[in-house]
This record gives sequence, structure tokens and C-alpha cells, in this order.
Amino acid sequence: MAEQLRRLPAVSAILSQQEIVSLLERLPRALVVAAIQDAIAERRQAMMPPAAAGEVCASGGDLISQVVARACQLASERSAPSLRQVVNATGIVLHTNLGRALLPQAAISAVASAAGLPSNLEYNLTQGVRGSRHDHLTERLTFLSGAQDGFAVNNNAAAVLLMLNTLAEGREVIVSRGELVEIGGSFRVPEIMRKSGARLVEVGTTNRTHPDDYRRAIGPDTALLLKVHTSNYRIVGFTTEVPAADLAKLGAERGIPLMYDLGSGALFDFAGAGLTGEPTLTQAVATGAAVVTASGDKLLGGPQAGIVLGRRDLLLAARKNPLARALRLDKMTIAALQATLDLYLRYADQPASLATHIPTVQAITRLPADLLSEAQSLAADISALAIPDLTVSVEAGHSETGGGSFPGAVLPTSLVALRCSGIAAGELAVRMRNASVPVIGRVENNLFLMDPRTLAPGDRQLVLAALREALASDAVAQND
Ligand SMILES: *Cc1c(COP(=O)(O)O)cnc(C)c1O
Repeated sequence: MAEQLRRLPAVSAILSQQEIVSLLERLPRALVVAAIQDAIAERRQAMMPPAAAGEVCASGGDLISQVVARACQLASERSAPSLRQVVNATGIVLHTNLGRALLPQAAISAVASAAGLPSNLEYNLTQGVRGSRHDHLTERLTFLSGAQDGFAVNNNAAAVLLMLNTLAEGREVIVSRGELVEIGGSFRVPEIMRKSGARLVEVGTTNRTHPDDYRRAIGPDTALLLKVHTSNYRIVGFTTEVPAADLAKLGAERGIPLMYDLGSGALFDFAGAGLTGEPTLTQAVATGAAVVTASGDKLLGGPQAGIVLGRRDLLLAARKNPLARALRLDKMTIAALQATLDLYLRYADQPASLATHIPTVQAITRLPADLLSEAQSLAADISALAIPDLTVSVEAGHSETGGGSFPGAVLPTSLVALRCSGIAAGELAVRMRNASVPVIGRVENNLFLMDPRTLAPGDRQLVLAALREALASDAVAQND
């Protein structure tokens, strides 16, 4: 072993190899040297006991070429962008792990201008004095929702934190036990409450909460009633929750504001598409809640943001809270949100046009016949690749809105189902995920499934390219 270790090449010897010399033309030296050091360290590790029994001792020349190849691989991996495009073939429209809503084209253009050009972000052009970045959204938000005032922060979790801290720090907030939800593993109502400095008062039981539960819990220290839309799950069966409007009324009687954390915050009524149970921002404001909070990148179909709507005095206090400075939006998000809201204003009377301009609305409202024909046409293109052992079919299935919206709702769709003899569906999913542009699908019943609902027009070629890479004949042979 000592003999082998002595044969390990020095960094300087590797640096003079031709592949490394050409790598140095496009990558910084420090990065290449670090990759070489790591490649050598890996070889050394592999030679140490307990080395794999079958570890073949490479001869001097092989060793160098192996280290060069590995160093090139490490250097390219490390210099490639970490955040990159993938194809969402999951059928989950608002996939939190895949970046939730895709922005409307108008919002993408607005982001580009805001990013590269100076703007009046915090400049009042009429008076030539400092302005507020919050003002760019207020008029649109109030007009669309019917609220007295509105602004936006970094995300809905930030909106909830800011409002709890502003309205209830050191005091009590009453919330139903059935609404102490966790969203996406990191947003937990009790934890946000603690961080805000507010004290949680739980009422009712997991499945049933009555108006009297809230009434009895109200005391001199009560600052706020909180209603949380349980967006990512449903309790079915013997359940009662107190409607927001009743809570708002109770709060008004006792002089305590109601805050309604809506989560999804649509401005499009999806009831026409057969989806119910997700109040729109306008409906939430109409309940009489003093504050409504929602995400910008869920059903609204805009950028990541936390929208705050409600009573002017409460929102003015929130704007003055130092936390608002810490949680504020950047100019690109303001531009994207403004452009998205403008589409809702412009096409308020034309739901069909709204769908063509807002990708989230479009994906959710796509018609089954359209999805079937797209699945059939994608399946035909895949068959035309004539990949040996690959069977393609179109199956009936379901998509989801995702993003914790419309829990339990199923959207009928048509799925392209792939089966490859000799390769398990799970293995095919791994290969598709490792393609140059990764394709993320679903695996069920040993089938690799792709849902056209979440495929953008340009994705077709990427799916075909990924399949060619995943099932190129050598890849199949390796597995056999
Ligand atoms: C999604 C959601 C949140 C968190 O929103 P983010 O924008 O992801 O921070 C909070 N509350 C509810 C009810 C939600 O559905």
C-alpha cells in the first residue's frame, strides 16, 4: 500500500496534462488546483484500508489519467450554476421544491427592467423627495381586493411574523387548535407566534371549534384573533370551524381585530373550473377581517411575496415596525408583483384572457381534452424515438394545484406513462433527473409518469432529449 501511495501523482504533474491546461483557459486556477487536490485525496482514500476488495491498482499512467478525469469532473460540477432549469412533469402546478408559480411574461420583462435600469423605487417623482417602496403596490392591491390598505413583504411567513409582532407582541393571540398548521416543514404557526413575541392561546379541539371557545378565551390581554386557512390538508368528518366572518363579528363586538392568514390568496375565482374551498383575496377581505395575509407565488401566480391587506391604522403601524425593513421586498419582486397585479386589473372582465396571460391560472384551468391531445402527441413523439424496450402509453390520472392550495382536490388529466424492460421505473426517474436538463416526473406502479399539465411548450424537446440521454443504448447495456 505504501508503494501505491508513493505512486500518487503530485499536483504539479497533473497541472501539466493537456486536458487540465485547456481547463485552465476557462476556469480560475484556484478552482482547478482545488479540484486536483480533491481528486488526488479521493485516490489516496481509496488506497487506504479498508479499500474495496476489488479495488484495482492502477498503474502510474492510468492513475494520472484517472485523476485528471476526476479533477475535470469536479471542476466542471463546481463551476456550473447550482440553480438551473428543470422540466416539471409532475403535474403539481405550484411545486414548492421546483419554485412554485412561473411568472407571467409581463412580470419577467418588468423584472429585467427593474434589475438593469435605475427606477423611482423610493423616490417621489412629483415632489422630488424620498418616497416609499411600499406605495408601488398599495393602489393595485386595494383596488383588486377591496381592502383599505395593502403592501407586501418577502413572503407570507414574513407577513404573518410582521403582523403578529406589530399587533400582539407581549400579548395573547387566540387561534383554533385545528388551525395550528405546519406548511412545507418550516412554517409552523406556533413557532412563528413565539418568534413574534405573541403568546398563543389555543381553543377548541383538533376537529371542532365553536364561537363560544373564542368568546371564553378573550381576556384583558387578548390582542388578536387569528384564523389560519388550513391550506395543505383537510380534516373530514365530524368537524366544525368558525367562519372568518363570524370571528370578525365577534372581534368587532369586543374591539379585537381578526387576522386571517389565507395562504394561497387567489385573485381569480377557480370555482368556474370546479375548484372550491379556496377563498379569493377579495372574499377574505369581505369577511371583515382586519388583516388578511397571503403568498404572492401560490394561486396568485406572481413572485415570492407576502401580501398584507387590511385596516389602514394597523398596516401603517406595521410599515413603521423595524421588522418591515428587515423583511422588505427588493425592486425586482416589486416590479414582478406590480406587473402580475396589472394583468388582473386589465383582464378583470375576461377570465379566458387572464388564463392565457398568467401561467398558474392557465395550468390549473387547462381542459381535459387539451391535456389528452397533448399527452397523445408527446407519446407519439416518444414512440418515434424508437428506443428499444421502451413502451409508451397514455393513462388517465390526476394533477394537483400544489402549494398547499385546494387540499384534496383532484384535477383530471392524461399522463404519458413509460415502461422500459430491464429498467425499473425508479431507475428511469433517476436517469431523467440526471439529464442535461433534468426532467422531474412521478413514479407509480412501476411506471414513469409525465403530466402535460405542467409542461411548457418548449419542454417537449427537453423531455425527448432527456429520454435519449437516459436510454441511449450504452446506458441500457450498462444496466443489464
Ligand atoms: C403557504 C402558507 C404560508 C407560508 O407562505 P410563504 O409565502 O411560503 O411564506 C403561511 N400560511 C398559510 C396558510 C399558507 O398556506
